[in-house]
Amino acid sequence: MRQVLAGTVAAHGMALGRARLVHPSRYTVDTRPLAEDEIDGELHRLHHALDTARLELRELRGRLHGALAREVNEFIDAHTLLLDDPELLRGLDDLVRIGHYRPGAALQKQRDRLCAVFEAMDDPYLRSRKEDVEQVLNRVISALQRQTSPEERKLAARVGEILIADSIAPADMAQLAGNGLLGVVGSSGSTYSHSAILARSLGLPMLVGTRDALSQIHDDDLILLDAERGEAVVHPTAQDLAHYRGWQREAANEGRRLAKLANAPSRTRDSIEIGLLANAETGSDVAMARARGADGVGLYRTEFLFLKKKVLPSEDEQFCAYRDLVMGMGGLPVTIRTMDLGADKADAAGLATRGEENPALGVRGVRLSLRHPAVFSTQIRAILRAACYGPVRVLVPMVTQPDEMLAVRTLFKIARQDLKRENIDLPEKLPLGAMIEVPAAAINVRALLQCSDFLSIGTNDLAQYVLAADRGNDALDNIYTPLQPAFLRLLSHVISAGHRAGKPVSLCGEIAGDVNFTALLLMLGLKEFSMHPSQILHVRDRLASLDHAHLRGHASKLLRAYTHEQVEALLEEITRQPLIS
Ligand code: PEP
Ligand code: MG
Repeated sequence: MRQVLAGTVAAHGMALGRARLVHPSRYTVDTRPLAEDEIDGELHRLHHALDTARLELRELRGRLHGALAREVNEFIDAHTLLLDDPELLRGLDDLVRIGHYRPGAALQKQRDRLCAVFEAMDDPYLRSRKEDVEQVLNRVISALQRQTSPEERKLAARVGEILIADSIAPADMAQLAGNGLLGVVGSSGSTYSHSAILARSLGLPMLVGTRDALSQIHDDDLILLDAERGEAVVHPTAQDLAHYRGWQREAANEGRRLAKLANAPSRTRDSIEIGLLANAETGSDVAMARARGADGVGLYRTEFLFLKKKVLPSEDEQFCAYRDLVMGMGGLPVTIRTMDLGADKADAAGLATRGEENPALGVRGVRLSLRHPAVFSTQIRAILRAACYGPVRVLVPMVTQPDEMLAVRTLFKIARQDLKRENIDLPEKLPLGAMIEVPAAAINVRALLQCSDFLSIGTNDLAQYVLAADRGNDALDNIYTPLQPAFLRLLSHVISAGHRAGKPVSLCGEIAGDVNFTALLLMLGLKEFSMHPSQILHVRDRLASLDHAHLRGHASKLLRAYTHEQVEALLEEITRQPLIS
């Protein structure tokens, strides 16, 4: 039966696929005890689900080829072994037969019990096996839950998968994206989370805050993910599929219209030039940035290199990634941000501090980098080497006070001396900029300007720290809005201080690529916007419709507003005016 679940759009687009559920650790199962005469039937159901899970693993192995197969087969082997483990199977049978547990509850009990055993192990490798146990038993639990009609199964088998999860860690998304994932439906999460940013970067449509997704959607259900309207349609009808095809046609037309802007200048209606830079993480981001006429890369988040694998990336590995980026931009400036690990970006190699009570307020970004000078220096060497291939700027995340910038400068100086001794080519200059995302850095920005060559405002974090509202918590949507007067005054303060000091100021948070905020940011005096490359043409299109002088003339009025509702109303009034006159 068709069902529509509402969510918030975190990454635009649409996708048709079959559901793959990733269950949160709390999973709702029927815990009522079994009656004696139900036991045999339920044991049969349990073993049928185990067989299905084995079959799925075999099928998965058959679908993979090349390097991916080599990597994934290791996991498949481990999972298959677990499914055949006599102790695990005996434990499950006993729980059903003797303990009168229903199969779902028995699987959950075994999963939690084994996970606790693995978690208590000292050896980090063995500890990490907990995830395997979790994944295998979750696979069986979902096989147990399947309720799909054979016709729908046939259609679903022809399309890729849409992930249905509570929330998803950026590292998991990065891994899944390479395996044909079509989109994501999160039952919680926020549009400013790192996973949402990554989804936009990967071009994966994504919904967050889709409350009932995990209880209403089952594995293999056919889903039309409509991340334009903010809906996940379960069991879509022929009419839904026609709407999807219509959207595909429209998206192609709009793409063709915008494509004409690829070589157009980025100017307001009154001919003020605005810099449009790209936030680029992957080779395809770089290609898209070039194709859409970006003025350079304003943010390259290097921590994604650290999230992919369980070992730290070597100097050469990093050098190659940075060099490819610099070369890929063909002489346009590239801003490489030093690793911003910590908070929700915990690396698999375990560099980020674990067990902090408040990780977002903890050892994160430059705070973490400076505590690991050897690892940080490896990154610095790789950046210096890559900077010989084109213009590079270095951006430092989570700066609070000048001494952090000075410490980074010192490490760059030492690395330069070392590389010189090793007769390795060095770039002549390498501007060092501070990211403004901590309120103290914004308020005391003049001190940071003395030791920075440029600034880049990270509004995703700055907003969460100014408003004391977690960027990933959708319950705080009414507080976490860039329209908050206190936040706007701080932005205006940073932009004007930077310009007064004669230093470039760009903004690389998500609002830079959101056309709803283009007028607002022009009003505050921003001249450089850095955004996901998919947004560049949209923002260029929007700029051409806005009058810079008119907007700047109203800035002080906007900054006197008391509430975000007033800001919103003023903004609408101000952006409407020139069209009337
Ligand atoms: C920001 O905080 O605005 C930013 C661009 O950095 P990230 O989203 O990676 O924290
Ligand atoms: Mg940030």
